[in-house]
Amino acid sequence: MKPKRGFVHEVLGGLGIACAEDTVPTALPKDAEQAARVMGEAGRRGWKLLPVGLGHQLAHVRPESQGFDLWLSTRRMQQVVLYEPGEATITLQPGVIWQYVQGLAAENNQCLSPTFHADIPRTVGGVIAAGFSGLDRPLRGALRHQVLGMRVLMADGTIAVTGGRLVKNVAGFDLHRLHTGGRGQLGVIMEASLRLHNEPQETVVLGHAFESVGVGVAAARRLHSARLPGSGLLLQIEESGACRLACSLQGSPGLIADANRLAALAMDFEWDLRGAPAQEYQTIAAGGFDLDPQAPWLFITCQPTAIEAVQASAWTWLELHSLHASGILQPDVAQWYLRIDGEVSAPALSELEKQMAELGAVLTPLGSLRPAQWNPAAQSTAPLRQAVEALRQQFDPEDRFQARLA
Ligand SMILES: Cc1cc2nc3c(=O)[nH]c(=O)nc-3n(C[C@H](O)[C@H](O)[C@H](O)COP(=O)(O)OP(=O)(O)OC[C@H]3O[C@@H](n4cnc5c(N)ncnc54)[C@H](O)[C@@H]3O)c2cc1C
Repeated sequence: MKPKRGFVHEVLGGLGIACAEDTVPTALPKDAEQAARVMGEAGRRGWKLLPVGLGHQLAHVRPESQGFDLWLSTRRMQQVVLYEPGEATITLQPGVIWQYVQGLAAENNQCLSPTFHADIPRTVGGVIAAGFSGLDRPLRGALRHQVLGMRVLMADGTIAVTGGRLVKNVAGFDLHRLHTGGRGQLGVIMEASLRLHNEPQETVVLGHAFESVGVGVAAARRLHSARLPGSGLLLQIEESGACRLACSLQGSPGLIADANRLAALAMDFEWDLRGAPAQEYQTIAAGGFDLDPQAPWLFITCQPTAIEAVQASAWTWLELHSLHASGILQPDVAQWYLRIDGEVSAPALSELEKQMAELGAVLTPLGSLRPAQWNPAAQSTAPLRQAVEALRQQFDPEDRFQARLA
């Protein structure tokens, strides 16, 4: 049974742990020891606990977040534990703000992936647990490859150590890769070690506009097949179907010259940006990933070779149901974020899910299309999702990190 709000505050107060008045009582431990005490108390009392950072994207990442008895926020745990510029690694407490780390790394001409603009602060723990890789994924690898190691507070109150603080120190199982994108369902990240990269010597963005999304996707596929070194592609799609393809090149002047030559063989570009305007363009483009959690979104992943088939199938479905879509496609990692204009019925959604499955693609409804108690394992017979659920139960057999069902 859900405990009374005041009671949760009283218990935490008795343990000497600060608690904020949020929509759900929020424990604010100042260190790992206090966090472990909160976890122990939650375990004894059967409380459902959600790890959070600043809670900015909870509506999106955990729409069921109101169904917890207690949130455990890491926002007071803000220490840089170890920064080794020479090793290009940094170890951080989970409440450190990601953009602060970007600034710190920039002082040594280093950067971390993904890159965010400064306006919405995000915590290290929240970014890692949400698991979204940024625009530079084709260049620097997925988010899970940026995480070298972790300390994690498990459901039973113990601290698990996985990976290491240095790039070369990779012994044992890579459990930190599971916690990356775990959305706080496997444990509470208490510390994370991240890989840093050298700032690119040069940045160039090449661009071309198309009147139809089909033509834009075909061009993106051609360019992807050209395997330009140091490149990342982004297709921005408007509701009308018009779209813009941007090809970002980063690296040494020699590498950029090579990539430029190959790009010119693959297609003619209409414009190019260099230096500061190119970097500014990338920051603005990254804003395209800030999905409004109240809007209806479809997230589709497929093989890069299937992007044209997925586009043809999805746009036929849109037309059939008198819907429109805008959004982005990352052609090199074959991920689509589509914002739908119009009412999407449940039967229409499962029809599209089936169509996508036939193409080997996976459809995930996001934002307002995702019901509050959405449980992918229960709703899908997909073997992958069932395996993920089985794994989750190994980490959290008592469903400590699962919302209370209404
Ligand atoms: C370019 C780009 C765009 C993005 N756009 C979006 C977007 O549109 N929508 C979106 O949902 N995300 C997006 N993300 C992911 C985003 O980084 C995080 O969702 C969010 O910004 C983190 O904010 P927060 O620190 O307040 O975490 P919160 O919002 O508090 O938490 C986010 C998730 O992490 C879990 N969590 C937080 N701290 C911990 C911890 N210490 N241990 C374990 N779990 C924890 C929470 O339970 C929750 O599931 C994007 C990422 C990139 C790279």
